[in-house]
Amino acid sequence: MIVADRKPFEEILDSIKDYKKIMLMGCGGCVTICFSGGSKAVELLASQIKMAKKKQGKEIEIIECTPERQCEYEFIDACKEQIESTDAILSIACGVGVQTMNERFPDSITLPGQNTKFMGYPVKHALWEERCAGCGDCVLEWTGGLCPIARCAKKLFNGPCGGSSEGICEVDKDTDCVWQLIYDRLKRLNKLDNLLAIRQPRDWRTSTNAGQRKVKFEEAML
Ligand code: SF4
Ligand code: SF4
Repeated sequence: MIVADRKPFEEILDSIKDYKKIMLMGCGGCVTICFSGGSKAVELLASQIKMAKKKQGKEIEIIECTPERQCEYEFIDACKEQIESTDAILSIACGVGVQTMNERFPDSITLPGQNTKFMGYPVKHALWEERCAGCGDCVLEWTGGLCPIARCAKKLFNGPCGGSSEGICEVDKDTDCVWQLIYDRLKRLNKLDNLLAIRQPRDWRTSTNAGQRKVKFEEAML
């Protein structure tokens, strides 16, 4: 899932300071799961904004809307009429939702209320960790299912850096060194030979280094 985190409240307030009527738009997808952008988060943020505005002696009207997904026209079109009556939209979906809104409703401005962080999952209650950086050329088959791109601060492909100590990453004492995890995992699977194979240099054009990426669904794949 995509994990996003609310922007600092002052930053949100500043971004809507010129508007008297806004739509606060959530998303029923990933950001609902990570508590930052679902209908409850919309309700809470709307109250916070109204209270803050009241303290400033200003008024604001807020229409709340949380489509099932903010990244598909079919779902956001349900809010079209209400959007037309507002000065701006504040989105607490991920960055994809914000951009979908801006493309679908080009005469309105949709502002981001979240910082989109990464793709990951909850490793325990209320704690999400990054697991995939969307590199476009997955290597999990030879790393024992552990990602050296999303989970190594230096994105190393040939084992740990000199700072790895007792299984802990030198960059953050609360983070395991993924290369230690990869070694332990491959040992358990009796696949340590994976680490001895000579591999070609990585072609990073599959990642974000070669501009916008596209995926075309081929029916022939079915
Ligand atoms: S190797 Fe690439 S696709 Fe695979 S989990 Fe890591 S970032 Fe994601
Ligand atoms: S200690 Fe391990 S995870 Fe951290 S940067 Fe070095 S190799 Fe990567």
